[in-house]
Amino acid sequence: MGSVDTVGALPRDLVRLAVSPRDKADAIAQAAQMLVAAGCVEAGYAQSMIRREGVANTFLGHGVAIPHGMAEDRALVRANGIAVLQVPDGVEWNPGQSARLVVAIAAQSDTHIAILRRLTRLLQDEDRLGGLFVTSDPGDVITALTTDPEVNAPAVPVSDLAKRFEWVLDYPNGLHARPAARWVDTAKGYAARCQIRHGDEVADVKNLVALLRLGLTQGERISVSAEGPDADQALSRLKATMLDLSVQERADAALAARRAKQPVIGWHPPGAPMALAGIAAAPGLAIGRLHVLAAADRSVPDHPVPLSEGGNILHEALSATRLQLKALADDTARRLGPSEAGIFKAQGELLNDTDLITLTCQLMVEGHGVAWSWDQAIERMAGKLAALGNALLVARAADLRDVGRRVLGQLDPGLGGASLHDLPDEPCILIAGDLAPSETAGLDPSRVVGLATAQGGPTAHTAILARTMGLPAMVAAGPGLLALESGTLAILDGYGGRLYPDPSPEALSSARAFIAEQGLRRAREEERRSLPASTRDGHRVEIAANVNFADQAAFALSQGAEGVGLMRTEFLFLERGDTPDEEAQLAAYTAMQDALNGRPLIVRALDIGGDKQVAHLDLPREDNPFLGVRGARLLLRRPDLLDPQLRALYRAAKSGKPLSIMFPMITSVPEIIALRGICERIRAEVEGPEVALGIMVEVPAAALAADVLARHADFFSIGTNDLTQYTLAIDRQNPELAAEADSLHPAVLRLIRMTVDGAAAHGRWVGICGGIAGDPFGAALLTGLGVQELSMTPRDIPAVKERLRDCDATALRALAERALTCETATDVRALEADL
Ligand code: PEP
Ligand code: MG
Repeated sequence: MGSVDTVGALPRDLVRLAVSPRDKADAIAQAAQMLVAAGCVEAGYAQSMIRREGVANTFLGHGVAIPHGMAEDRALVRANGIAVLQVPDGVEWNPGQSARLVVAIAAQSDTHIAILRRLTRLLQDEDRLGGLFVTSDPGDVITALTTDPEVNAPAVPVSDLAKRFEWVLDYPNGLHARPAARWVDTAKGYAARCQIRHGDEVADVKNLVALLRLGLTQGERISVSAEGPDADQALSRLKATMLDLSVQERADAALAARRAKQPVIGWHPPGAPMALAGIAAAPGLAIGRLHVLAAADRSVPDHPVPLSEGGNILHEALSATRLQLKALADDTARRLGPSEAGIFKAQGELLNDTDLITLTCQLMVEGHGVAWSWDQAIERMAGKLAALGNALLVARAADLRDVGRRVLGQLDPGLGGASLHDLPDEPCILIAGDLAPSETAGLDPSRVVGLATAQGGPTAHTAILARTMGLPAMVAAGPGLLALESGTLAILDGYGGRLYPDPSPEALSSARAFIAEQGLRRAREEERRSLPASTRDGHRVEIAANVNFADQAAFALSQGAEGVGLMRTEFLFLERGDTPDEEAQLAAYTAMQDALNGRPLIVRALDIGGDKQVAHLDLPREDNPFLGVRGARLLLRRPDLLDPQLRALYRAAKSGKPLSIMFPMITSVPEIIALRGICERIRAEVEGPEVALGIMVEVPAAALAADVLARHADFFSIGTNDLTQYTLAIDRQNPELAAEADSLHPAVLRLIRMTVDGAAAHGRWVGICGGIAGDPFGAALLTGLGVQELSMTPRDIPAVKERLRDCDATALRALAERALTCETATDVRALEADL
């Protein structure tokens, strides 16, 4: 037997001859069993192999199949190895494809390339391969799979073709089938002969098997050459394809590595069970039976009607859907808050899209039915958006389909796709390709305990809604998720973004214990939420809530808020179709003061612009709205907006109940001086009392000049959401960069420190009202940096308070000093372990 370079020897008990598996699953199970028995893999590997079949074709051709596990389950592989089943009568692998040699591969890295290479050679030697299908000597199989008969130098030295370039393959997983197929496709577009040479071996680039046979791994130098009329074009296109794929392959490998290495936050399942990995979208652990939503039947019948009648039908369906969305937005605003409700407002806007309506009408003019035309128009537009590959546009496509389904439901109730109607009685974990935001918002938490989707992203609306609803969720788990069966018991880990189907009794009891422990922790936090956030050594931090409407104040107080640190008044404008006048605003501010019953209230003057666009203000479109006329810049240009707001605020202050005013997006001293001047004029006009006038520190310029600004502002509140986006130059709405936009980035922390120092020089206080204030570790670190007030989403308050009560202020100050010298946000977060 020859030596084996990367997979080790092939012992006889890993070759089983003359087997007759019932079917493909049985063949995989048998092969996996052999690998388990040989100590190559953990038991969960069989399921991983089955899942791989759901997402990729492992039939190599010529009667050979190479089942192997999913890349993210590599942890289940203990040692590289292969198990071979000889199936003389063949087993159906895919319809019309029969496997007679099943080579199950367990490989930790790109070692399966070596196997693939030998197999592809065998595939070209039909006689030898045919012999392996029927041989009764396992030695034949072992020799064929473990020796490289062709390594001798070829008789004729190989040479490159006329035109050439050299390249070092940098695909982390070597040249596997997917990129190789792209090379083939590219080469096939040209008449020229194209060739790859690696050392003494050559392959025709138009032949996939030949390419794979080269067994190229990362770091190997190849010569790419071509000959023929369009050789130059072919080579330059091939080079472009190879380089494009480099980026993709490296990103895929990095993602897989990141996911595999991602510390499992929170729950650690016992015994490394098989898991489907996705992206964590909403924290929490859930146990339940899976309910897999079948993809909705998309066939919409084509029933033409006279055009004039069709136009009316469409018009009515659109109007009815608008009303429906409005009701849904109102309901969502009440249950989950105004920003979530904004999702349905935006969907309502989609109904006004003239391209969409035009396309529908064109199809109706061509003689098609209303529902059919509408459905086609939605699909075509959504398809175009999704195909652009931009995560934001993909999310937009999902919204478009969601709204399209609603209109269909109006046109014909049978077409609304009420896929969520037949949920099981027992609480389930819902599995779906993707879930529309309106479907998520409508989920009944007593029937659905968790949510996992094949597509989607952590910043998509569905994920945001799941978080708000407290529903553990994972997204982007890939199509393998949909191959799971309804009724399977599973554990969904929304902290780590993993789904564990068929958990062991130990995993189940560990998960139950964890859920119970979390419940107790939450109960403990909630029990103590009205206690102040005083550290063990007596340093007290003010804890306030970010609340926009008076009717949300009671909930905030019940969570332990000591006041409102940020009332975002733009929501008074966003919520309505018109601008609220002075009286309406006075009513809103007074109601908030009443609800707070003497507790502090900081009202932020209108922050319109950036992502908060108010359609009825008809503001000019800007190319970079986040860098445009936003916040204070708009207020100073629009007295028609600022004056009534300030009048209402100073009139509310006359009640004697606490009220401070804060201005957003300040970048310079002249802005504050101008705003203070206007405030003073209006205060005098309405004969109101003096109130504290603060500014938001959201722009690096403000943080850098904090010592100067502090002369003119009574307090600072740092808006870390914006400060992070402006410091790191990462659009806060860009989902692709979301993971990097960490407010604990050392650069942001340094700006916070400068703000604190600048404020202290003039005896001003500093609060934080950006999202990081609600992160328990973030809150601890900010306290160490010297921030005096933290204002956050009410739900975050109990955990933040508890965290701070568990710390010593001295230790937090030392922690902050260390954080300031860290190189990355990850290093900063790693400090949590030392706290
Ligand atoms: C911030 O930028 O951190 C902030 C609190 O303001 P908003 O999120 O409303 O822009
Ligand atoms: Mg802001």
